[in-house]
Amino acid sequence: MIPTQGCVQWLVRPIGFQALIRRCPRCALKRHFFPGGTFRVNAQKKILDIWSIYKCEICEYTWNIDIVSRVNISKIDQALYERFLSNDQEEICRRAFDYNALLRANNVLGPPPDFDVDGDDLTAFAGTPQLSVDIKLQYPIPVRLVTILAKKLNLSRSHIVNLMEAGMITGVSGRDLNRKARPVQMIALDVGGVMAAGGPRCLPEPGGSRDAP
Ligand SMILES: [Zn+2]
Repeated sequence: MIPTQGCVQWLVRPIGFQALIRRCPRCALKRHFFPGGTFRVNAQKKILDIWSIYKCEICEYTWNIDIVSRVNISKIDQALYERFLSNDQEEICRRAFDYNALLRANNVLGPPPDFDVDGDDLTAFAGTPQLSVDIKLQYPIPVRLVTILAKKLNLSRSHIVNLMEAGMITGVSGRDLNRKARPVQMIALDVGGVMAAGGPRCLPEPGGSRDAP
């Protein structure tokens, strides 16, 4: 029996890191810097400084980004401190995508990273009339909802807007579509209607980077 309603979770996962732009003294040019995957911890007289070490993408010149500045060591959570000491990679990611903290520290952001959308494709739900889609961002990258849907459904952004206007994509307004995606968002798809719009994964993308069946 075909269920009348399905649900799926799509996880938007950045590929690589958010770039920061800075003049590299060795290259003598503005370059993109990315996390190298290590913290530097300095505790002197109970005063703690912690940096995330970034590297120039061209020459690997290192640059320390402030994470914790001049904090009394008694004030830091012990489990968090251990994560800094052990170069915990989740903590590296959390800091690398903490946009508020990056901007507070006057960093200049480069272009956001590309991303993948994990989770079953629409084709897995062929025959299910209505699909609830729970869209989650693994990290709060600045990407518009329309861009996420276009990528996952392998349709153009204008196709996505047309589908929303035709009632095939519901639970979202045109304004929301063009806004930066929220950390968690629920939409609903008319599976048949969306698949008829060009067929997810059925057409090669212009440029042909995606697998054609
Ligand atoms: Zn450089």
